[in-house]
Amino acid sequence: MSTSSTLSFTVTERTDRASEADRAAVLANPGFGQRFTDHMVLATWRKGEGWGDARVTAYGPLQLEPSAAVLHYAQEIFEGMKAYRHADGSVWTFRPEANAARFARSAHRLALPAMEEADFLGSLRALVETDIDWVPDATTGESSLYLRPFMFASEAFLGVRPANEVTYCLIASPAGSYFASGLKPVSLWISEHYSRAGVGGTGAAKCGGNYAASLAAQIEAAEHGCDQSVFLDSLEQKYIEELGGMNVFLVYRDGRLVTPELSGSILEGVTRSSILELAKDLDLEPEERRISLEEWRAGAESGEITEAFACGTAAVVTPVGRLVWNGGEVRTGPQGEGGEVATKIREALLDIQTGRTEDTRGWLTRLA
Ligand SMILES: *Cc1c(COP(=O)(O)O)cnc(C)c1O
Repeated sequence: MSTSSTLSFTVTERTDRASEADRAAVLANPGFGQRFTDHMVLATWRKGEGWGDARVTAYGPLQLEPSAAVLHYAQEIFEGMKAYRHADGSVWTFRPEANAARFARSAHRLALPAMEEADFLGSLRALVETDIDWVPDATTGESSLYLRPFMFASEAFLGVRPANEVTYCLIASPAGSYFASGLKPVSLWISEHYSRAGVGGTGAAKCGGNYAASLAAQIEAAEHGCDQSVFLDSLEQKYIEELGGMNVFLVYRDGRLVTPELSGSILEGVTRSSILELAKDLDLEPEERRISLEEWRAGAESGEITEAFACGTAAVVTPVGRLVWNGGEVRTGPQGEGGEVATKIREALLDIQTGRTEDTRGWLTRLA
């Protein structure tokens, strides 16, 4: 909790908001990350002054000098979270303190300024209050307003050092059900010569650079008919780390639910942490440890591993159907639909997030 003075966000509402009909059409079929709400939050940090000029303003293009440091040296971090509209019309988000804390850790790693938890939460509230009509109804499905806070080096300077001017921005985009027709298992390509992160690198920080580093492997995956890449540890190329933007879990026949332990190059997902906490309620035995690719292959082959799934805020839980590598593949879960455990975990999370079940852990924070 911040004891220092918190930022206050000045709201300047645009007069040309999207029409109700336009908004209704977007909300009826939102997709992901395509349309944005009417407003955005901006704030500026200056060395020696701290954060200021915090405001809610019309969503639109940013003005940046071509020499802005982020465009050259990628000093940038981001977060991803969702706001859900409950049955009574109130709007809530899931464990935002965890995102605020991770944003602060990412900022530290990328030599960006810290933002107080209260200011991070304040920005979410300011935007959601202003654009509340853009929050879809989550009483039946899983529609939400996806919130994307990010921070980047906006100083116009080509010298290599932490920027003296940094911009914080928050945008929001309605998101529909990730899977239009039921849970469809994805296939994973094992990237044997690309890593997304290495020891001492930025793997544990949520930064754009990690995503840039994952894209060549993503192309390779597509060339092999796979949906996504799974990355191995960069040192031995032997242990499972995660996907480009999701953590991984394996389900064992005896009820163990195993995920790779945080290695320093794995991103600590809020969904991952929440699943580890929920596991016991669902009669599963959570385990964090190293998992070799060989263990996964052999376990899937023998049937000891009954399911695999990936998890993250955007897709919640995504079943993995096949694991493919140069020269072979193995089925690692039901093919047509998600496995029983993946489905159960997905439902448990969504029931809390959307207010369909009681939030006994205090994971929800009201935004509006
Ligand atoms: C964001 C992200 C995740 C998932 O984190 P959540 O907090 O669960 O959304 C996993 N891996 C990477 C690399 C990520 O960037």
